[in-house]
Amino acid sequence: MPKKQFKAESKRLLDLMINSIYTHKEIFLRELISNASDAMDKRYYHSLSGGETGLSREELFIQILPDKEARTLTITDRGCGMSKEELEQNLGTIAKSGSLAFKEENGQAEDVDIIGQFGVGFYSAFMVAKKVKVITRAAGSQEAFCWESDGSDGYTITPCQKEETGSTVILTIKDNTEEESYDEFLESYRLQGLVKRYSDYIRYPIRMEMTRSRKKEGTEDQYEDYQEIETLNSMVPIWKKAKSEVSDEEMDQFYQDKFGDFTAPLRVIRSSTEGAATYNALLFIPSRAPYNYYSRDYEKGLQLYASGVLIMEKCADLLPDCFSFVKGLVDSQDLSLNISREMLQHDRQLKLIAGRLEKKIASELGLMLKNDREKYEEFFKAFGLQLKFGVYSTYGAQADLLKDLLLFTSSKEEKPVTLAEYVSRMKEEQKVIYYACGQSRDQLEHLPQTELVKEKDYEILYLTEDVDEFCVRALGQYAEHEFKSVSDGDLDLATQEEKDQVKEQSDKEKDLLGCMKEALGEKVKEVRLSARLKSGPVCLTTDGGITLEMEKVFAQMQVPGEQKMKAERVLELNGGHPVFQKLQGLYQAGEKELVGTYAQLLYAQAQLLEGIPVDDPVAFSAALSQLLSR
Ligand code: ADP
Repeated sequence: MPKKQFKAESKRLLDLMINSIYTHKEIFLRELISNASDAMDKRYYHSLSGGETGLSREELFIQILPDKEARTLTITDRGCGMSKEELEQNLGTIAKSGSLAFKEENGQAEDVDIIGQFGVGFYSAFMVAKKVKVITRAAGSQEAFCWESDGSDGYTITPCQKEETGSTVILTIKDNTEEESYDEFLESYRLQGLVKRYSDYIRYPIRMEMTRSRKKEGTEDQYEDYQEIETLNSMVPIWKKAKSEVSDEEMDQFYQDKFGDFTAPLRVIRSSTEGAATYNALLFIPSRAPYNYYSRDYEKGLQLYASGVLIMEKCADLLPDCFSFVKGLVDSQDLSLNISREMLQHDRQLKLIAGRLEKKIASELGLMLKNDREKYEEFFKAFGLQLKFGVYSTYGAQADLLKDLLLFTSSKEEKPVTLAEYVSRMKEEQKVIYYACGQSRDQLEHLPQTELVKEKDYEILYLTEDVDEFCVRALGQYAEHEFKSVSDGDLDLATQEEKDQVKEQSDKEKDLLGCMKEALGEKVKEVRLSARLKSGPVCLTTDGGITLEMEKVFAQMQVPGEQKMKAERVLELNGGHPVFQKLQGLYQAGEKELVGTYAQLLYAQAQLLEGIPVDDPVAFSAALSQLLSR
């Protein structure tokens, strides 16, 4: 029988396993037991939804059998088993190996740590075994197959016989070397200890024959050994244990195993209630966004258990979109085991639970923000965008829930600020919350439109994410203060005197401004004198509801053939600037064409300041050359 080769990535992980350092080796048992438990979950779940009939949970257990003579350790489950194709797929390749991705990012030096921190699955068996055999029979099938491998050399799959549905994993334990002894993995007391330590919460009995001692009948002081099959685990799931009974380490490990992350969670949220809805929830906020988080591939949801039995792997209805990053599970005794997905959607209990969880998550995030700002900022880096998107995508319906959890960049502080902090620092006469949109703090610091606002010593929120402006607009206001863009047409910050002055000058220069507007044509709605510019000669502002930043975002979402969303642009000029005096001079001398060229250049300049590329670089360059050579 020719050996099949492992897929390239699998082979590398395998090498990693085989050569890992000793202290991590013991976790192989946890991994194999988890797989067995998952397989039984699957089998039971399918039987509920009409697969196998008449399967009772009592038939499902895991058995561990060490054999010192044969030097084998056998782990048997009554799970769903695997077909030939599944064997090939699941054990011949590691398609989505998180640990490998992690290794790639972090380089060779981290090898050792990944194994300790993160579940590495089936392959970990090769840390202690020189040969691994899996005999398996899929639920509903009469056929059985045997997968066999002695490590990186490849594997074989052959047909075989098996009485029961499920899998049997047989490890031939490595021989002792001078440095390392593997005998302990054949000692029942050691194995019992490992089960207690790593797999106590597994919801199925893990059984092993233990040797016990008792007084010989009819004697006073003579003892004899006898064998007894014992259940090694307490089967109390981790979410039902008291907080004091679960160490932080255990909790982190549980999270990483169960939800396939390789870093500890940023925060653990426990919530349990009795009354209208009785449930235990164990939720985790990951410390970083999964690679596909901000893509369509990402599926939100919590595991759903009915009285400790898994009934759904990813129940999306339990999480609002704004908290889609939360991982975890809900266990409720109010749900029926046989409930279908369709019914679940309309389940009143489920809605009640979802509502409670939403509030709980928001309040926990609020606490983190209050008590551990640094950690919160770390959280916000990973998931803040989702919160902002949550405000926007619900048209502000989630505003109350989320508004105090948002962070923004600000003109006054290096660190991100909350809206409450902004409002608490507002000047007495300041009515609105000012913001400016752009690519970066650096660009915004130099935006001419911010000058007047800064001169008044008002703080400006720098909105640098695409979703930011949509978010503040969906909020509408915070603490009864409206949001206002510094580029807004009617900023209304100048004094009456300043306004009068601008008005007077505008009337006087009506023809010049008209001439410039004519030269720019449809590009702008108006050319006007500005009350907001202090040192710069020009800036672009907008009238109406669509700002330049929104126009940019809409352009990215543009569907071909659809009409473009356009901002109504206004070119604002600084009437006190030497450039304007120059324009006046040219206009009076009858140089209308030159005034037109100036208008084009000033418009291009204003666009560049906004981070918008100029419309026609060739024309721009020609106009510039023309002026430079005059
Ligand atoms: P993971 O469990 O993280 O998916 P593993 O390498 O441990 O990764 O296992 C790969 C796959 O092999 C599992 O997802 C499962 O489909 C299958 N598998 C492993 N062990 C068993 C088992 N005892 N019974 C049925 N299927 C199993």
